[in-house]
Amino acid sequence: MKELRTDAWVQWCPGCGNYGILSALQKALIDINRDFSIVGGIGCSSRIVYYLKGSFNVHTLHGRAIPVASGIKLSKPELLVIVSGGDGDILGIGAGHFLALGRRNLDLKVFIHDNAVYGLTKGQAGPTLPLNVKLKAMPYANVHDAINPILLAFVSGYTFIARAYAYHIRELKEIMKEAMKHRGAAVVDILQPCTTYNDLMTREWFEERIYYMDSIPDRSKLFEKMLEKEKIPLGIFFKEEKETFEERLKKAKLYKQS
Ligand code: SF4
Repeated sequence: MKELRTDAWVQWCPGCGNYGILSALQKALIDINRDFSIVGGIGCSSRIVYYLKGSFNVHTLHGRAIPVASGIKLSKPELLVIVSGGDGDILGIGAGHFLALGRRNLDLKVFIHDNAVYGLTKGQAGPTLPLNVKLKAMPYANVHDAINPILLAFVSGYTFIARAYAYHIRELKEIMKEAMKHRGAAVVDILQPCTTYNDLMTREWFEERIYYMDSIPDRSKLFEKMLEKEKIPLGIFFKEEKETFEERLKKAKLYKQS
């Protein structure tokens, strides 16, 4: 763990779910034991790149972590490349890139710190906040429908899709490791309380609703599980082997590794 720590001052609020995600990610990287690159966009969560010692971490532009990570992966295919960012960064401004990654099935891992708010810019509605919900820093209730990241990942073509919870570090670490071992585009939607701005989805709120699925749902139950709202299922929703983007490019003679 010490080898992965940096001297950077961790600028997250006390109790923020980002701490759990950082801790699970450190543990997963130790177990996986590969050279890695973490790429973050803009937001509280994207600062994770400063807190993990990796040779190739990048803090890039708002919503653009996926294209930057794609370039890294194509030029250094031996690296484990992870995109770590908030629901605002990945599913708001970066939504087009999120869809494109699913369609390509490039071997990247996307870890969404999903707290339903833009924390860094003081608590505006994030893409996963439900319609008509008003959080403490919002002048009026949300007028947008929420994005369902699991469903969006499925229709975009992701070949590994899971949901986890930031404060369950052991379970989160195991899900991250499964995503890291998967060959292709993987997404883990990590439910994360924002203790400063999201006064609805608190630790208590999540812990009254979440439960772990016994196994990966079969196709006949998949949509039911993805759309469940009263209770929130955690675990792996979907996993399949499919030709990766690198393989497609090689087949089309468009990819030369240096
Ligand atoms: Fe975490 Fe929210 Fe504070 Fe950002 S504003 S560090 S998401 S608690």
